[in-house]
Amino acid sequence: MTDNILLHVGIDDTDSNEGMCTTYLTHIIIKQLKKHDIILLDYPRLIRLNPFARYKTRGNGALSFKVELENRDEVELVEKIVLENVEKYSMFDGVNTNPGVIFYEGEITQEMKDYAIGAIYSIYSISYAEEFAKKIGARVHKFKKGRGIIGSIASISIDLPDETFECLAYRKSENIGTKRQLDQESIYLMNEKTYPETFDNIDIEGNYTAIEPHTPCPVLYGIRGNTAEIVEKAHKMVKSFEEIEDYCIFRTNQHTDMHIQENIPIHDMQENSCYKVKCEVTEEPHDIEGGHVFFKVSDNTGTLECAAFEPTKTFRNTVRKLRMGDEIILYGGLNENHTFNIEKFQLTSVAPQYRLINPLCSCGKRMKSAGKNKGYKCPKCGNKIRSSEKVKELINRDIVEGFYEVPTEARRHLSKPIVRMKE
Ligand SMILES: [Zn+2]
Repeated sequence: MTDNILLHVGIDDTDSNEGMCTTYLTHIIIKQLKKHDIILLDYPRLIRLNPFARYKTRGNGALSFKVELENRDEVELVEKIVLENVEKYSMFDGVNTNPGVIFYEGEITQEMKDYAIGAIYSIYSISYAEEFAKKIGARVHKFKKGRGIIGSIASISIDLPDETFECLAYRKSENIGTKRQLDQESIYLMNEKTYPETFDNIDIEGNYTAIEPHTPCPVLYGIRGNTAEIVEKAHKMVKSFEEIEDYCIFRTNQHTDMHIQENIPIHDMQENSCYKVKCEVTEEPHDIEGGHVFFKVSDNTGTLECAAFEPTKTFRNTVRKLRMGDEIILYGGLNENHTFNIEKFQLTSVAPQYRLINPLCSCGKRMKSAGKNKGYKCPKCGNKIRSSEKVKELINRDIVEGFYEVPTEARRHLSKPIVRMKE
């Protein structure tokens, strides 16, 4: 029916560092809409923005959903329910909690899709987002500074050429803040049955389960995967010793590498943006204070200082194995200190490394120096050579071509795990 109204709702920045989470707020709104027979047209969306956005809360996720409504009364009802809940559940005490809500009617335009990509590649100001909202005819609701409108518009607008799903299970309110009571064995079993269609369930070394958050929020756990069906199936396999209040499945841009810009040479890289770049190692990795590993790479336009920071744990051991001349494709972001923060890399060519040693004698024995500039002498047969030149011996490299990534716990929400890479 052409008279129906397509309404997009975007909500962002209602979280503080601990406590509520915007996904839960969205889930509550969806349940209340259902009581009025208003059903979502699609899964709600959980959209991650630029990982460098300064005032981000936990992971910088913006929520949205769309509904088809029959008349203006229904539009008013939806807006009332959304705004009431944002006012009721936002963590207004948080210094960096500045909720923003957007209502937009009609189809998403190309201009809106471009805005959304920009919110992931770069960092927008509140005033820019507000002007954009005015231009597209959206209704804007700012709470406090209203920073959330930046992400709200992006969340309703973003195109998802690649996507994943996350099933979030929520706790009973009386349990929030207490230790999460999950049957760890059931999580390993779920992983066994559903990986790699679900991922990030278990830490890379298999030492512990990674589906539980570490903050006192309403989320009991989250399962990430390639389809809505698989995350729901996996969710049903997890056994919980505490009662699960409810669960909700979100369509997301998590783990798609959507934040990574390609074909930008080192010279043109901007701070607070993320890139994929083909380059060569030009300074060997070395440790600096704090457990961080630094090294340098170059392409034909410039040199980049790269870092595997301490929280990337075992990934640093892999990075330490890189040597001059190795060809790699780096994925990561340039921080405000102009250091490239590596998320993963593909080693495409291992450069042969040599060490200089004394020559072998014709009898097979390694020769010894006969004194400075006096050549070599064989300790076994006494054979002598005049030249003092050393010979090159190939060093066995303890690393092979392939992809290497940070462990689950250090992975950014947007970063595509190797298990999802199709190249
Ligand atoms: Zn000899």
